[in-house]
Amino acid sequence: MNDYAIIPRPASVSRGEGTFSCRGVPWAATGGDFGSEAGVFNAQLAATFGETEASAKIALTREGAPAGGGESFRLEIRTDGIAACALDPAGAFRGLQALRQIILSAESEGRLAIPCGTIEDAPRFPWRGLMLDCSRNFFSVGFIKKLLDALSLHHVSVFHWHLTDDQGWRLPVAPFPLLTEIGSVRRDTRAWRDVGGFYSEDDIREIVAHAAERHIEVVPEVDLPGHASAILAAYPELGCTGGPYRVEERFGVFEDVLCAGNDRFLDLAEAIFDVLDRLFPSRYVHIGGDEVPTTRWEACPKCQRRVAELGLDGTWQLQSWITTQLAGMLARRGKIAVGWDEVLENTERFPLPENVAVMSWRGSKGGKEAATRGRPVVMSPTTEGCYLDYRHTDDPEEIGRLGVGTVRQGLNLRPVTPDMPPEAAALVLGGQGNLWTEAVPAGRLAEHMIFPRICAIAEALWTADPAADRDIADFAARLKVHRGRLDRLGLNHYRGRLE
Ligand SMILES: [Zn+2]
Repeated sequence: MNDYAIIPRPASVSRGEGTFSCRGVPWAATGGDFGSEAGVFNAQLAATFGETEASAKIALTREGAPAGGGESFRLEIRTDGIAACALDPAGAFRGLQALRQIILSAESEGRLAIPCGTIEDAPRFPWRGLMLDCSRNFFSVGFIKKLLDALSLHHVSVFHWHLTDDQGWRLPVAPFPLLTEIGSVRRDTRAWRDVGGFYSEDDIREIVAHAAERHIEVVPEVDLPGHASAILAAYPELGCTGGPYRVEERFGVFEDVLCAGNDRFLDLAEAIFDVLDRLFPSRYVHIGGDEVPTTRWEACPKCQRRVAELGLDGTWQLQSWITTQLAGMLARRGKIAVGWDEVLENTERFPLPENVAVMSWRGSKGGKEAATRGRPVVMSPTTEGCYLDYRHTDDPEEIGRLGVGTVRQGLNLRPVTPDMPPEAAALVLGGQGNLWTEAVPAGRLAEHMIFPRICAIAEALWTADPAADRDIADFAARLKVHRGRLDRLGLNHYRGRLE
C-alpha cells in the first residue's frame, strides 16, 4: 500500500513505527553536501507556507544513499527527524520533492503528524518532459517559472521550450534584429490589436537557472525550415518568392518556408545556434523539421539550382540535406540535434546524421524506426495521450478519437514497446507531453490542460512497471490526495473522471 500517495508512484515504500510530529515544525532542510537543493526546497515551502527559521529537522546526506547515484534517493521519516539520502544532487532534490508532496498534504489536511517510513526510488527513463509552445501564445517568465516549480514536484526532468513558429519569434538573435522587432508581433484582427512578445537574454538566463536549480534541463526549439512565417515577415529575402509575408495569425501548415537555395539561410542558422549555445547548457537543441511542404521549392530557381548542384533525385530530398547541414553545425558546437519524426523521411541520399535524436509524434512508429536505426528517441505520440492541447474527455464514445485525450492514456504511455529489440530499447531516452497553444492562452486554461495529465505521464516515465495496463484505480486514489497539493500550489486542474 502506497500510503503517502506520492505521484509518480515510488518504487518502494515501507512503513515504520510511530509518527513524526509536525506540531510547530519549521519545515526547512539543512544542506550538508547539497546546499543548493536545500535552499530551493526551503524557498518552495516558504512560497507556500510563509518564511520559517532554518531547522535541522530535515537533513540531506550521502550516508545511507542507494548505490545507483543519479536521481535515485532514499527518504527516511523517523520520529526524531527526516533524512533525504542520495549520492548526487539530483537524487537529493528528487527525494525532497517526494517529501514536499507529503508535507503539502499534511499541512493542507491540518494533520499534526506524518507516519514514519522509508521511500526508496529511482527513475526508469532520464527524459521525462513537458513541451510548451510559446509561439502561438506568449507565456510570461512568471508563468513559466511557476510551471517549472510545479513540474519539479513530479520529478519532470526536461522542459522543451518551443520558441519559434509561424505565429511569433521569441528568441533574440543579435545579427538578425528584425526577428524579434518584426517577427515577435502579429496582428490579431478579431481583437484589433497587436499581440506577441519575446524573451530577453536575461529572461532566458533566469528561466534556465530556475529550471537547473530544480534539476530540469531546458531544451530550446527553433523550428526550421518550415513554420517560418515569422522569419519571412522579418527577412522576406529568405523565402523563395520574396513575399510579401506576414507573421501568421491563422493556424496550420503554410507553403512559404525558408528557401533551401539561399546560403543566407545557413548564416541565419549559424547565428541562431551561436545564441542557443551561449544561453542553453543542454546538450540538445531541437531543430523542428516538421511539416515542410515542398511546393515553393519545386517552383524556385534557386532551390532547383541546389537540387542540381547536389545531384539530388528530386526536390523532396532537400529537407534531409538541410537536416544534415543543421546537425553538422550543432555537432561542431558539441550539441545533439533533435528533430520531429519527419527527419526520418527521404534520407536515401543524405542519411540521418549519427547525432540526431528523433522525437516521435505521429504515433510511436517513427520512434521505433529511429531506435532501430540506432538513433536516440523521445516518445510523444499523439495517439498515447501526449498531446495536452487535445481536449480532456471522459466520454466513452469519444475515447480513441483524434483531438481528445485522457489521463489514463498518459498513465499507459509506453516509450519502449514489447516488439522493440533490446539494442533499440536502450536508445529510448523517455517521453514527454506537449502543450501546443493555438487555442490555449497563458494562465488558468493552460494549467487545466497540463494537469493532471502531466502527473500521469510523469508517472509512466518514472516508474518501471511493465504491466500492459497500469492500475488506474491506484493512481486515482493517489490523485485524490494529490489534487489537494495542486490546489495548495494554486494550480488549476481538470477535475473530470480519468477515463
Ligand atoms: Zn527557394
